[in-house]
Amino acid sequence: MDVLVTGGAGFIGSHLCEFLVSRGDRVLVLDDLSTGRFENIEHIKGIECVIDSTLNQEVVRDLVKEVDLVFHLAATVGVRLVIEHPINTIVNNIRGTEIVLEESCRYRRPLLITSTSEVYGKSAKEVFEEEDDQIIGPPHKHRWCYAASKAIDEFLALAYWKEKRHPVYIVRLFNIVGPRQTGRYGMVLPTFVTQALKDEPLTVFGDGTQTRSFAYVGDIVPALVKIIESSHLAGQVFNLGNDKPVRIIDLAKKVIERTHSKSEIRLIPYQEAYPNGYEDMLRRVPCLKKIRDAIGYLPKTTLEEMIDIVADDLKRRLEISS
Ligand code: UDP
Repeated sequence: MDVLVTGGAGFIGSHLCEFLVSRGDRVLVLDDLSTGRFENIEHIKGIECVIDSTLNQEVVRDLVKEVDLVFHLAATVGVRLVIEHPINTIVNNIRGTEIVLEESCRYRRPLLITSTSEVYGKSAKEVFEEEDDQIIGPPHKHRWCYAASKAIDEFLALAYWKEKRHPVYIVRLFNIVGPRQTGRYGMVLPTFVTQALKDEPLTVFGDGTQTRSFAYVGDIVPALVKIIESSHLAGQVFNLGNDKPVRIIDLAKKVIERTHSKSEIRLIPYQEAYPNGYEDMLRRVPCLKKIRDAIGYLPKTTLEEMIDIVADDLKRRLEISS
């Protein structure tokens, strides 16, 4: 198969590319290297990378024409980046996806779009099911532009399925972690592990009782491929992640313990952690029934294993950069 991965030089994209190449696919990457890094993919044999944006419609058209399948991962992600650059977030996430949809539909190439657990917003439900309502905050809180832009992507993709029978698959990712993820844009696990490795205080925002469920990138990548290759699943939305929540304060404690760090935990009030425009979600657990029934997905990697893998990766990277 010939496959296009937009955002292929990013954290999740690079793992997807590795997986596809390992099973013999030819992989083309489109990435503007805004948050992706060429080092994430340079070790992958035979990979072809075009450094450009999904906003460049001609480039997207030429690449889509060459392949059998398209994975669209390119997006502005990370709470810090979203709050600092809301225009980029909205334009990249909406216009970029619109272009990828237009071109993949033109050539009838199946398209998988990665969406986000963020679209559920601040729902207080115990677990989030795919058909649940979205409960997002007001537009002056910039964080929500990410959820809103991704929700528009979903609306548009589902409209392409309804009106044109263009095979689209939507996957809402829940806090994916693993090697190559960076804490630069706000992601909590690489941030905590880096702080722990440097024996610096771990910065827990709020009182740390908010929960997240973390899933390992190596568990979710094969599921993305299985979904796009199951044509009877076209036009559907799936949660993908891990359904075991942990409180952020407990995550911090676990990171300190597993890295044998001398770090302390520092509670940072939200107003200090982020400028205006931030609002946290107190909980977020996916219901995985739909994806389990559809493709037999089960997350395997434990939180302890994820922390160890991320710590090994960051140790290596910190040594290289020091
Ligand atoms: N968080 C934290 N310290 C940090 C970064 C994040 O306590 O240095 C918290 C954040 O407030 C949120 C959770 O960790 O409750 C997950 O944050 P992240 O930005 O990784 O992802 P989100 O799930 O919010 O998109």
